[in-house]
Amino acid sequence: MLGEYWRGAARGVNSVFMFTLGTGIGGGLVIDGNLWNGRSGIAGEVGHTIVQINGPRCACGNRGCLEALASGTAIVRNYQERKRMKQSLTARQVVERARKGDMVAASVVRQAGEALGVGIANVFHLVNPALILLGGGVSRAGKLLIQPAVGKARSLIRPALRRYLRIRRGQLGDDAGVLGAAYLGFRSIGLDVHETL
Ligand SMILES: [Zn+2]
Repeated sequence: MLGEYWRGAARGVNSVFMFTLGTGIGGGLVIDGNLWNGRSGIAGEVGHTIVQINGPRCACGNRGCLEALASGTAIVRNYQERKRMKQSLTARQVVERARKGDMVAASVVRQAGEALGVGIANVFHLVNPALILLGGGVSRAGKLLIQPAVGKARSLIRPALRRYLRIRRGQLGDDAGVLGAAYLGFRSIGLDVHETL
């Protein structure tokens, strides 16, 4: 989140929430240039917010967490279950299959997108950020995932408020984390980071 704020898709935006969609789902909130950590560092753990009561079991022990429905791990598990297959594969491979016309793969990715949309609507109502960013490997699924996510999120937001929903994909890919760490490091020694590099 900090990397994207400093050098990427959230430059100059004063309130941003980022979903990082990968094997798990994480998140981060930047307000006025500062990452909001919460008291014990778990702020932004959007992956463990519950989007489906009695939904599938999450690694954390609860049911219906966003991570149990929309992470890469969930996409793979749902695909394997629907196809009754034991062969191991990656979320990227499920997405490739969806692109090639595998209807089950497309449906699994769409369902993940809809769950993500519920998470996005929740964040929108709770934080009302100027921008919501989507990053992480699973976000590379592109339209297949993001269209249903945006559609679902919009359907959960009152019409008069929908125009305030802004969603973008991150720009920095795997470099976002290291740039964010650099940003924190520079700031901790008092460098004016917007002049640095
Ligand atoms: Zn969980």
